[in-house]
Amino acid sequence: MMTRNPQTGSEFSLAVLLDDICDHVRPAFGRGKVADYIPELARVNPRKFGMAVATVDSEIIGAGDCDEPFSLQSITKLFALILVLNRGGDEIWTRVGKEPSGTAFNHLALLEAERGAPRNPFVNAGALAVTDYLMARTKDVAGLMAGFIRVAGGVDSGGVNEVVAASEIATAFQNRAIANILKAHDTIDHAPDAVVDAYCRQCALEFSVRDLARAALPLALQGFSPLAGETMMAPRLVRRVNAVLMTSGMYESTGSFAYRVGLPAKSGVGGGIVAVAPGRGVVAVWSPELDRVGNSLVGTIALELFAQNSGWSIL
Ligand code: GLU
Repeated sequence: MMTRNPQTGSEFSLAVLLDDICDHVRPAFGRGKVADYIPELARVNPRKFGMAVATVDSEIIGAGDCDEPFSLQSITKLFALILVLNRGGDEIWTRVGKEPSGTAFNHLALLEAERGAPRNPFVNAGALAVTDYLMARTKDVAGLMAGFIRVAGGVDSGGVNEVVAASEIATAFQNRAIANILKAHDTIDHAPDAVVDAYCRQCALEFSVRDLARAALPLALQGFSPLAGETMMAPRLVRRVNAVLMTSGMYESTGSFAYRVGLPAKSGVGGGIVAVAPGRGVVAVWSPELDRVGNSLVGTIALELFAQNSGWSIL
């Protein structure tokens, strides 16, 4: 099936484009470094590369290792935000801000200086506060999230990798410090250790890029999932999530990512990135070697090539 490039008007095949990108990115392998501060993540094959596109017409195209489950890590913060907005509406914004932080995702000093008020839901402090909020509504935050991904994407695979969860829980010293500061300022209700454990389990969810592209499709379609045949979130919430993705989704490289790719996106230290093209579709990519700030190095190159050649960009 052919797709039209909205910027040039020319027709192209998404399947051919993804295959071309797979070939083009190979020389960039070896320039990044796999996350190793969570010991279990260091065991992944660094040269994996998978990419998938889900279009608003329900066309699903994949290339490379697109069916291999990988650790979603911070990409789960995107689904946590959707769930929290769906359940509590704007209430979460009384605890968490919407501004870029310009600091590392697990930065501690800024949180202390700002008296326990996280800058946004995509830094760890904000994500821990979101998880805490969800814990008041479910005993199993990771399960709730996996349920959303399965329904929205019409997928029946994926779930928590218990070995990764245990590895992260055993080494989550920085996140425990963050959670304790949050508790000291009454930003979270539950015990800090319980919030960190629930958060680490959520981060250890594994799905493939094909599943991920499918599950995020409501963000490109005013909240509707054509794969589930149901509305997953209100259109006004979609706009809010995409706004926060655009301004805070890619760690300290959010500005340069917007410059290079021009799409709202979220990355995770497992090497995944999911990018939303409103009205067109979702692109997900996975390659474990990370750049200096923690974004997939090869994945970012792949998305830049995709945006250039597809014309899918909001800028
Ligand atoms: N679970 C990871 C952490 O909290 C997620 C980090 C990330 O993907 O940005 O350190």
